[in-house]
Formats: sequence, structure tokens, C-alpha cells
Amino acid sequence: MDINASTVWDRCLEVIRQNVDEQNFITWFKPIVPVRAEGDVLTIQVPSQFFYEWLEEHYVPVLKKAIVQVLGENGRLEYSVIVDSGNQRNPPLMVNYPNGTGFKRNNLQHVAGGGDEYSPFSFKALNPLTVNSRLNPAYRFDNFVEGDCNRLARSAGLAVSKKPGVTSFNPLMLYGGVGVGKTHLVQAIGNEIKKSLPEKIVLYVDQNDFTSQFLNALQNNKIQEFQNYYLQVDLLILDDVQFLAGREKTQEMFFHIFNQLHQSGKQIIMTSDCPPRDLKGFQERLLSRFKWGLTADLQEPDFETKLAIIHNKMKSDGIDIPTDVAEYLALSVDTNLRDMEGVLNSLIFHATLLKKEIDLDLAKEVLKNIVKEIQSDVSVDFIQKTVADFFKVELEAMKGKIKKREIVIPRQVAMYFCKRYTQLTLALIGSNFGGRDHSTVIHALESVEDMMKTDPNFKNSVEELTKKLKLRVAG
Ligand code: ADP
Ligand code: MG
Repeated sequence: MDINASTVWDRCLEVIRQNVDEQNFITWFKPIVPVRAEGDVLTIQVPSQFFYEWLEEHYVPVLKKAIVQVLGENGRLEYSVIVDSGNQRNPPLMVNYPNGTGFKRNNLQHVAGGGDEYSPFSFKALNPLTVNSRLNPAYRFDNFVEGDCNRLARSAGLAVSKKPGVTSFNPLMLYGGVGVGKTHLVQAIGNEIKKSLPEKIVLYVDQNDFTSQFLNALQNNKIQEFQNYYLQVDLLILDDVQFLAGREKTQEMFFHIFNQLHQSGKQIIMTSDCPPRDLKGFQERLLSRFKWGLTADLQEPDFETKLAIIHNKMKSDGIDIPTDVAEYLALSVDTNLRDMEGVLNSLIFHATLLKKEIDLDLAKEVLKNIVKEIQSDVSVDFIQKTVADFFKVELEAMKGKIKKREIVIPRQVAMYFCKRYTQLTLALIGSNFGGRDHSTVIHALESVEDMMKTDPNFKNSVEELTKKLKLRVAG
């Protein structure tokens, strides 16, 4: 180290210390090593690219002030950035940024520095074979059921898993409500990459891990280690980014990691409970990054997909589930797939440990305990039958496709009660009436409400039916 450089830097530090708080001083200025002072130029060595960018973004005024006071108006700062701290055989790789503080970053100069003195910071190289990717091997593509609800997201995921960082799906942003399979899918991508490209470093974190690791690093003055760790990753999966809302510092850190990884062709995958444009409490620049690659949504699975998921899951546990039970569950568990999983696990428990037969009764029993509130005693069947009886029409005709008015009205009324007394989605209600779609059901609800306003007789009928159905609900 240049003695002159060290004197100059010490004097700079005195100025800096008066302008930043203790914690930031320790975090961002203590680690800096003065390398050279020649004429008006002071060269400082910083431990990483991230570190350098952070300084440039946050501390330009302070650094300028210090340089001007110590070296005069023409004073200039240059950076020497450790981009790879090397090991015993390879010297560290350095990049010099002349013209710091307000510089334009051009003509990068790669300089191979010499020896260990250049790496004053512990820098642990991750080994792809031993790094803990935090992946759950149970989440794979082969047990991720494809449906209309997830087709785009799944294909994008597959493409990414074949060529991480290479497709234009970078970042890949998957969004959707609770239990639609976001975590399953992103973990499947991770598992696939680990299998086919074992030299890649894959890391899954949910925002919670990320945030607490970051805060911990901040407190313990380990920011470099923290980001050195993340910058070595080839595939970074950040689950549930919506929870970073309002966490400015964490977002800032993620922004830097994101940029660095993206620039060096590393793959980033994120999930969120809503599309990026609806994320609240995020810095605009971070949101605009999210939109660089591909954004794909996952929808609530439809009946068929749910059925397939149920069969799939039971089969993988070596259990045959009778078709009527599977259909019953697919229709009844209408909250989300996580509840479905609870129900299935409980069924598996009953079937294997208690050696009970899985039948409708058991399914109903289990369902009652797990999915609260959504189960009233009124089933679609019961509503259909009661309404058909009331209007004296054929049940099958009412459930079918006939378009005659005397059939259509009871059908619409039955749909209306299904909406009122079951938790089924519009689409599922439609599927119980000859495979109609949700817009038909919406239309039915509107007609019933209109008719109730304009036709007192009709209104009476609906009220009468309400009583009959309510009796059933209560008793
Ligand atoms: P999210 O992260 O969107 O809240 P999860 O990925 O945790 O949802 O999914 C909830 C449960 O549903 C998990 O057990 C998952 O395996 C299962 N699941 C969701 N989608 C599918 C699918 N398409 N195929 C198979 N299982 C699925
Ligand atoms: Mg999840």
C-alpha cells in the first residue's frame, strides 16, 4: 500500500465520518483500501461491483466533498473494483473505474492484480454441488399438472429450465392468487436445472429469507458477504416479492443484485400475488425491471385440472381414490389448492394409518374439518332437484341444453341459488348445468334479479324456494 495514499485517504475519512452515521461509515467506508495517490488522483479499492455502485449512488456528494477538501478542486477519485477475489492459483480480477463520482462507465480495464493482499474480505466461492439451493424435490414438472389455467407460465418455465438466462424470459415473473401453484412451478424450474445443468448454482429464497438475511448482514457489517453470495448464483428464485413492499433498503439491495445478475446473463425468477403494475410500495425503477422479461399469470385451476391434480397426488402416494370422491372434492374444495392439499393429506392419513376406506362419507367428514364455512348442507344436486320439483320440470332437462322458456327460467333460478348457497365459482356452477360457461351464469343471475323486481309472482316463487332451501340449511 502506498503510504501517501493511506494518508490522503485517512484525511478523507475524517471528512466522511462527519457526514455519515457510524453504521454506514463502518459498512461502506471502513472496507475501502486506498491503493494509490498520484497528483490529484486517489485510487481506492472496493470489495465488489455492488459496493462500488452503492457508493456511487449514495455517497457521491460526501466523497466529492472529502476529495475536494483533501486534494483540492481538481481532485479526482478512481476506483479499483474486485470482481473476483481469486484463489491461490489465480490472482484476483480487478476492474478499474477511472473517473469516479459522476463518471461515465466506459473503457473498462481488466487488470490482474497480484496476490492475496487484494482480497481483504472473506469471499467464499460457492460450490454448485454443495450449495444449499433450498429446493424441495417434491416440486417437479412431472407432477405439475398442465391446464388452461397455467399453460403459458408452465411453458415459459420449461423454456427457462432448458436455457436459464438465455431466453428473453429474464426475469420470469409469475403471478397469481394463493395456491395456484407458483411455488411449485418455480421450484420445479430450479429442480430441473439442478438435474440437467449441475454446474449451475441455483438458489430459491422467499422474500422472508432474503429480507432477514439482508437485515442480519446490515447489522453485522456483512453486506459484502451477503451480496457476494447472491452474485455467484446462476438462477435466483425469489418467491412472493409482494412482501418486499415498503422495504426500501431491501428493495435497493435486490435492485443491485438483480441488475448485476441480469447483466451477466444470470436467470432471475420471481413470483408475486398480483401483476407488477399492481404491486404497491415498490420503487418505480424496480417495477420497470420486473417488466423486462416475461410476465405470466396462473389462474385458479378449472374442474378438469383440479381432478387431475387430485388423482396425481393420490397416485404418487400410492393411493387409489374413487372417481366419485375425486369429483366431489374437485367440486367442493373451492377455496384454493392449498386447502385441497390439506384435505388430500388428511385422506391419505386416514387411509394409510387408520386403514379406512376412502369413500364419499370420509371425504365429507375430512372436508368439514378442514375447509370451514364453505360447506353448507346444500349441494348443487339438492338445489337442482328442489327447483325442478317446484317448477314441475324434468330434472335432466333443466340441467341440459333445452332453450325453451319454461325450462330456461327454472334453470336460471337454480343457478341463482347455487350462487347463493354454495361457494362454487361461476364456472363450476355453469359446468353443473350442461357445461355452460361463467358468462351464462352471470346472465342467469341478472335475469333472476331483474324478474324479481318486475314480476311479483316470480318473486314469490323465489321466496318460497328460499324457505325450502333454508330449512335444509338450518336442519
Ligand atoms: P402458490 O405458491 O401459488 O400459493 P403452491 O405452489 O404452494 O401455490 O401450490 C399449492 C399446492 O397445490 C401445492 O401442494 C402444489 O403442489 C399444488 N399444485 C398447485 N398447482 C398444481 C399443479 N398444476 N399440479 C400439481 N399440483 C399443483
Ligand atoms: Mg407460494
